[in-house]
Amino acid sequence: MSNNNSWQVLKFGGTSVSSRDNWNTIAAIIKRKRAKGKKVFVVHSAVSSVSNRLEALITLAQSGHYDEPYQELVSLHQRLLQEMELPAMLLDEQYAYLKRLLDGIHLLGEVSDRIRALVMSQGELWSTTIGQTYLNQQLEEPVNRLDARDFLVANEEYRVDYLCASCDFLQDDALIQTINATPVVITQGFIASTSEEETVLLGRGGSDSSAAYFAGKIAAERLEIWTDVPGIFTANPNHVNNARLLKQLNYDEAQEMASAGAKILHPRAIRPAQISNIPLYIRSTIEPGIAGTIINDVENRWGMVKAITAKENITLISMESQGMWQQPGFLADIFSIFKQHQVSVDLVSTSETNITVSLDNLTQVVSEKQIKNLSLDLSRMCRVNIMKNCSAVSIVGKNVRAILHKIAPAFSIFETYKVYLLSQAASDLNLTFVIDDEHCNKVITALHELLITNNPNSEILGPTAKELKQVEQADTGSKWWQDNKETISMCLAKRDSAYIYHLDSVRQNIHNLQSIDAVERIFFAVKSNNNPDVLQVAYDNEIGFETVSCGEVEHILNLFPTIDKSRIFFTPNFAARQEYQTILEKGIRLTLDSTYPIKEWPEIFSGKEVFLRVDPNIGKGHHENVRTAGATSKFGIPIYELEELKPIIEQYDIKVVGLHAHAGSGILTNEHWAEHARLLAETASIFPSVKYLNLGGGFGIKERAQQTELTMSQIDNTLQQVKAEYPHYELWIEPGRYISANTGVLVSRVTQVKQKQNYYYVGLSTGMNSLMRPALYGSYHNIVNLSRLDESKEHLATIVGPICESTDKLGVEIPFPETKEGDLVLIENAGAYGRVMATQYNMRSPAEEVCI
Ligand code: ASP
Ligand code: MG
Repeated sequence: MSNNNSWQVLKFGGTSVSSRDNWNTIAAIIKRKRAKGKKVFVVHSAVSSVSNRLEALITLAQSGHYDEPYQELVSLHQRLLQEMELPAMLLDEQYAYLKRLLDGIHLLGEVSDRIRALVMSQGELWSTTIGQTYLNQQLEEPVNRLDARDFLVANEEYRVDYLCASCDFLQDDALIQTINATPVVITQGFIASTSEEETVLLGRGGSDSSAAYFAGKIAAERLEIWTDVPGIFTANPNHVNNARLLKQLNYDEAQEMASAGAKILHPRAIRPAQISNIPLYIRSTIEPGIAGTIINDVENRWGMVKAITAKENITLISMESQGMWQQPGFLADIFSIFKQHQVSVDLVSTSETNITVSLDNLTQVVSEKQIKNLSLDLSRMCRVNIMKNCSAVSIVGKNVRAILHKIAPAFSIFETYKVYLLSQAASDLNLTFVIDDEHCNKVITALHELLITNNPNSEILGPTAKELKQVEQADTGSKWWQDNKETISMCLAKRDSAYIYHLDSVRQNIHNLQSIDAVERIFFAVKSNNNPDVLQVAYDNEIGFETVSCGEVEHILNLFPTIDKSRIFFTPNFAARQEYQTILEKGIRLTLDSTYPIKEWPEIFSGKEVFLRVDPNIGKGHHENVRTAGATSKFGIPIYELEELKPIIEQYDIKVVGLHAHAGSGILTNEHWAEHARLLAETASIFPSVKYLNLGGGFGIKERAQQTELTMSQIDNTLQQVKAEYPHYELWIEPGRYISANTGVLVSRVTQVKQKQNYYYVGLSTGMNSLMRPALYGSYHNIVNLSRLDESKEHLATIVGPICESTDKLGVEIPFPETKEGDLVLIENAGAYGRVMATQYNMRSPAEEVCI
């Protein structure tokens, strides 16, 4: 590998270069890259609003009054120079040059595309001067300034397109030679030159393309587009509140989105990256901590709608002719007229007598005059109708065709809106509807609601813009481990891995649950965490213990020999006859979760109190393997079987004092337990002796930014209603995860890092031998590099352990910083069903437990 591999191209848009703060962010980003040995090639836009102002100045100069807006443009830059404490005369010569150009336009009263391009190019040239001067002060090494026009040459196959040129981007050894000795380079976006050394533009928003061309030319290892939004969203977040950040897109999908109007990337910026297989990152200078969107060659196997995009303000040309039917060459003739007029077509639809096309308004600038002349020529062959103010709304995603049946209901939206043109890309990447501009936002919102918001959670969909703001806040807020970083590091001084439990948080969680007044008793599920210190907190806070084996019961009795037995509850599954006997002898309450023990061994329950575990018959929970109800689940007695027990119960004087039901885990709907309580209360009428209703656990915790925590007061409200309806029952609950999950973290030291194509693997000293949940039921754990909390998350990492199993992954697609051997990695929410499930597999001891 040659050393030019370490070049990274960073493109900064108008907002990013418009304030001192943002230039400081740029400087910090460059420094970080340099510290990692990367060479940095900066491509930037003009200061924001400058290109628009220049465009307006050109128009004004032709008609007369341009002095004032010219002065405003100068003042805008002077203010920036002042803010950045740069010399006030820095741009004087450049201002004067622009003034001369404008005077020339004024004198002639007209302007060619060539001169227009030259005027527009000034914005970018000025900001390079600002940037180079400032960065030279901020960085410890000189910044090499290039004139982009010396290296980007416009394709001139048909003609020179001064306003919207495209360029070649094959590896350019001369350029690499020029820059290799100076590891920080700055140059302009948006501009290039002809072979005659005239200035050309790459189209509005074309700086992205400049960056992509340069990335190709210098064979960069990555291209980062830094802008003012944190990535590409499933729809424009300014219009669609629920639009979600797309964490990853394939080059083809990104191309489709850019071409279909997603304004974040210039449509010509993707091809160069794709051809040279350079991963493209979209990030925000305003929120540099957010990982943004990665565009690479990773394909998704299944069809999925990724985005709803729109191109507004497009022009349709509808051509009507009887003559086209079965006439060879008719289309060729029509399109040759488009070619003559240099107008490129975007969408096409044809019928027997009509062809309708839309004009591509992203990569070309079509003037009114051009359209008029075109339509004049076309009208010799057909009846021409020009329709303005249309929008092309696209549903974008790989294999959209494969999921047409699923998205069909969404099409009823078009009952209300006239569709002028419908097109389905042969590439199977989009479905496009052309409608009136005025309906555009309504249609996008409705389609997004139906096709994305209601879509099941996917790894590719990140948070919404609003949630991202909350994440930023939440991340800066205090999680107990953030306040105990030093202590955690100390605990790891002599170990490679450890489970660390925070006892104050255990206490807090118990207090939260105790605020549910409707609940009489709380039993902590010992199976979730059997650490003696954690159990001690539960004991001291006067809650009970739910146990599932004689071993767990013994454990509790050993720890708390004088405990009141009514604080222990035994709820095993498929336990042997002997276990029930042992427990009954100890005077501990138990649940039967099958009719078998009563039918086959009624004598051991004679005269005793029992609970029956009912199958509520609706499975809930975050994964199939933790749903514990329904016929496919091994837990619980179907409600219809309860009646059968009545004769035996009477005969043996077995006292059914309680019913119990548990429907799964990780439930975040506040109403769930009330629904459950009602079901149990209704069922309880079968047994007049029932006094207690045990609602089970399943209290979920917030694990992802987009989740909403349970609200204890709401749970209480809903349960109080049930209590009002059924005042004679006591309500019990038995949470495990809720009490212990977020009180524990697994911390482990990095052993190795591996990059395999686009996959960034971070290896830890422990894995599924300590924490089995991800391998067992794909559970999600937030994971952070504790040693580099403040560093920007540049990778989507797969966090793995050292166990020889391919499922030994603790997390996939975790936004992660560049990581080094020896770093400490922290896995959140590992306090429940963590250490208790650990194994010695591979003869690797699992992480030890430490309480703080
Ligand atoms: N300054 C140019 C424009 O505003 C190019 C860019 O910002 O990408 O269109
Ligand atoms: Mg842009």
